[in-house]
Amino acid sequence: MQVPTSWIYNYDDPVTLMQDWDDRMDVVSTLLGYPKIRNNTILYLQVDVDIMYGFYGIGNPQINNAYNPLQPENGNKNHWFLKPGDSFWETEFHEMGHAQLFSKFPGETEAAVNLLAAAIFNRLYGIDIDTALGESFGNQPQITRDQAALNWMVTPISGLVTQWIFPIQRRMKSATSSEDMPSM
Ligand SMILES: [Zn+2]
Repeated sequence: MQVPTSWIYNYDDPVTLMQDWDDRMDVVSTLLGYPKIRNNTILYLQVDVDIMYGFYGIGNPQINNAYNPLQPENGNKNHWFLKPGDSFWETEFHEMGHAQLFSKFPGETEAAVNLLAAAIFNRLYGIDIDTALGESFGNQPQITRDQAALNWMVTPISGLVTQWIFPIQRRMKSATSSEDMPSM
């Protein structure tokens, strides 16, 4: 992580903060089956005057937090980067999930990448798994494991629809006889 000097020249406990960040990274590595010591920075965060893409995304550095360099600071900035504990911004870990390149089922990528934050909430901070899941993307305590399973069962999977159902529908429309009908 890199932050402006003006954010931290009065910061009094960087050791606790860095240990907390290391612990978060260890949870992610363990979850995904990677060794805890890797050959590069697992999540390299920076701030800049604007975010990288105009929407949140991955990167090395990963820049999803903007700041104003002309704004006077007191050396002890009130920013989630600098706070150990469970008040982190889960979207940063959602984006990190994209960058970890673990395998996902078609259409479920945007949900699967939230597992990183859920694991950090649960494994590192002891938050029960249903609450951790609900907090893993936005504050949605109603999304328990049971509710997530129900949602999955009643929601068409977009990848499934575009890859399988749409082509079959197109072939059915263009079929001129029953022998031309696609089999499933
Ligand atoms: Zn995403």
